[in-house]
Amino acid sequence: MKKITIAIDGYSSCGKSTLAKALAVKLKYKYVDTGAMYRCTTLHLMRCNIIKHNEPINHLDVINELDNIHITFKYNAALQFSEVYLNNENVEKEIRQMAVSENVSKVSAIKEVRHKMIVLQKQMGKNKGIVMEGRDIGTVVFPDADLKLFMTADIEVRVKRRYDELLSKGTHITYDEVKKNLVERDYDDTHRKENPLIKANDAIILDNSDLNPQQQLDFVLRLIEDLKLISEE
Ligand code: C5P
Repeated sequence: MKKITIAIDGYSSCGKSTLAKALAVKLKYKYVDTGAMYRCTTLHLMRCNIIKHNEPINHLDVINELDNIHITFKYNAALQFSEVYLNNENVEKEIRQMAVSENVSKVSAIKEVRHKMIVLQKQMGKNKGIVMEGRDIGTVVFPDADLKLFMTADIEVRVKRRYDELLSKGTHITYDEVKKNLVERDYDDTHRKENPLIKANDAIILDNSDLNPQQQLDFVLRLIEDLKLISEE
């Protein structure tokens, strides 16, 4: 069976991970959450005090620390996806903390950080059979991807989803705090100089405001079939 590359980009909290994970399970493909890689970098920089509360980030300090940041993914059979490891430590939980979310867009705007991540991402996808999601996958990481999706959803729907998710994990946060973070991150991610979030010309828009996870998965599987992207070789 021919293997393809699926690139998913879009705004914060619009269900990219949910869709990418489900597609990877269904197609038996590798799944890569590139946001987790920028979050790992941010967590490391916070832990070694290069990111300090309410202080601007010194880019030179970040660049000098990059060689000490090793990001890997290990498949968790029970969860059916690969979890992210920072210097051999599973940090899936830590990287979702609000403090990381508040700093990640500043870190992801740094050219040298992006360069390091993109090299790793291209390498992970070199044999195809991959679903990768982020902000610049269809535009920069895999401009030749077989299928590109650009995901969006109504802001209130996205805030509600993220708010419910954080509450279920026991995070103490208000709806307005979640909304502020999403709006600010979307602004920073779409306005930065290096590889801003934009829709690739050949990406298909998927607005999932009124779709549940199963409906959006079915939509994409139908698309793959209709476009005859996966056929017997
Ligand atoms: O996907 P997630 O919301 O976890 O991503 C966290 C942040 O990582 C984004 O807000 C963005 O700043 C950055 N990011 C990026 N490029 C990617 C993936 C994520 O800049 N390909």
